[in-house]
Amino acid sequence: MSSITKTNKNITPIPLVKKPSLTPTTVPAVDPGGRPDAESTRTACIRTFGCQMNVHDSDRMRRMILDAGYTEVTRYEDADLVVLNTCYVRENAVDRVRGHLGELSRLKREGRVKKVALTGCIGAAEESRQLEKQYSIDLILGTHNTYELADFIGLPGMEETHTPELPGTEGEHTAFVTIMTGCNYKCSYCVVPSVRGRMVCRPMENVVHEVRRLVGSGTRYVTLLGQTVDAWRDPEGSGNKFFDLLGRVAEEAPRVWFTTSHPSNMEDRTLRLIGERETIVGKLHLPVQSGSDRMLKAMHRGYKSDRYRRKIEVFREAVPEGTLSTDIIVGHPGETEEDHEETLRLVEDCSFDSAYVFKFSPRSGTEAAGLAKSPGAVPEGVAQRRFLEVLRAVEQNAFKRNQRKIGSTEEIYIRHAKNGNGRAVGETWSGHAVHVPTTAKPGGYVTSKIESAGPHVLYAGEPVGPPR
Ligand code: SAM
Ligand code: SF4
Repeated sequence: MSSITKTNKNITPIPLVKKPSLTPTTVPAVDPGGRPDAESTRTACIRTFGCQMNVHDSDRMRRMILDAGYTEVTRYEDADLVVLNTCYVRENAVDRVRGHLGELSRLKREGRVKKVALTGCIGAAEESRQLEKQYSIDLILGTHNTYELADFIGLPGMEETHTPELPGTEGEHTAFVTIMTGCNYKCSYCVVPSVRGRMVCRPMENVVHEVRRLVGSGTRYVTLLGQTVDAWRDPEGSGNKFFDLLGRVAEEAPRVWFTTSHPSNMEDRTLRLIGERETIVGKLHLPVQSGSDRMLKAMHRGYKSDRYRRKIEVFREAVPEGTLSTDIIVGHPGETEEDHEETLRLVEDCSFDSAYVFKFSPRSGTEAAGLAKSPGAVPEGVAQRRFLEVLRAVEQNAFKRNQRKIGSTEEIYIRHAKNGNGRAVGETWSGHAVHVPTTAKPGGYVTSKIESAGPHVLYAGEPVGPPR
């Protein structure tokens, strides 16, 4: 069967207007080793760990650094200033950062790197003080005061201009737009509320204005960002909720997505809106964490598994071709074999297209960390087996679902240009990742038939007609 899925044919193509470049206008001299001429240019390297919120925060800091006249480099040894923008959600994320800090201490001793800044979620945690001493870090910033980087790099008055209200991401064709920061939930395992604080929502008009400006300067794909975007409420008291904001943004931008959502806040009308609006990508990321009601209660998630299932039914009915992803934690203290079986059952029932599966990681200061040494703690070997079982179940479902796409003709948004294997990476309107043989530029569209599929990606044939 051949069908075009949610083709965005009513949308007038928006001409790609080149945005003001973020790179400095003067190109620095580069020595044969690749290091820009230190006499004329200061250099900075930003490394990001973690979620899209962190990518977005890094983009904000990148703007400040470029505004201050630094040139961005990719290798630590070429950088005067290194910014590590970090994640604290799981212990292995902290271990990775420690590895980088160790290398940076060595480069500092050798005089190759001058300053190191540690920012983001680790910066907001107590542990940063110990890291500061151990690795002689020059600047520590949390997630609320990233604007203080401005002072550090010699930009005057940045508190005025680099507030959380300001956009940061301005890629060539995609942009993240933060609609809220922080989180009002208190999930047993999670450090986010303590490192990012309580929820603060941006006024609707500010968000819409920012989206309009981005689209006017060439952005073709807007992602609305927040820890629980669907909990968004207009702080100006208009009574508008996330449903209203998404509807407004979908009128302004040619392609829209949002992440992350919380099942307790997700309204059925929002799920239906995804199917109704041509500009909203038909993919939903709705973290469930567990299929066991007992564990959902212990995690303080605020919903039962059947309520989650009902939301998924609404989504599948509203967006039949859409893609669904989730987050699942295995091995939370107290999780029994029966709880794990419930999770596997839920995975089967919801038939996820993909999932981020995590082994529980005790985070200092969280309720669940206090239980990590209790009799209910799940041994590492058991957690590893459960992890693999959930992952396998998700992949089997995803593979079957992806196979059903073979033969369909899809309009594909190009996210990354053709690489070494001759294929660009794109996304269908249903949110499937696709590899497609085209020279079309990021931000453009091609139409192609899906020829084969793996568990994670679809493979399309030669595009039909020119890119648009
Ligand atoms: N706000 C989102 C939500 O509630 O769905 C998730 C934010 S969190 C940064 C991303 C994911 O990391 C969570 O959904 C959870 O699955 C996982 N996670 C958070 N804390 C964790 C921990 N201590 N151990 C293992 N996984 C964790
Ligand atoms: Fe963490 Fe729960 Fe908030 Fe998500 S909803 S950020 S998991 S506390």
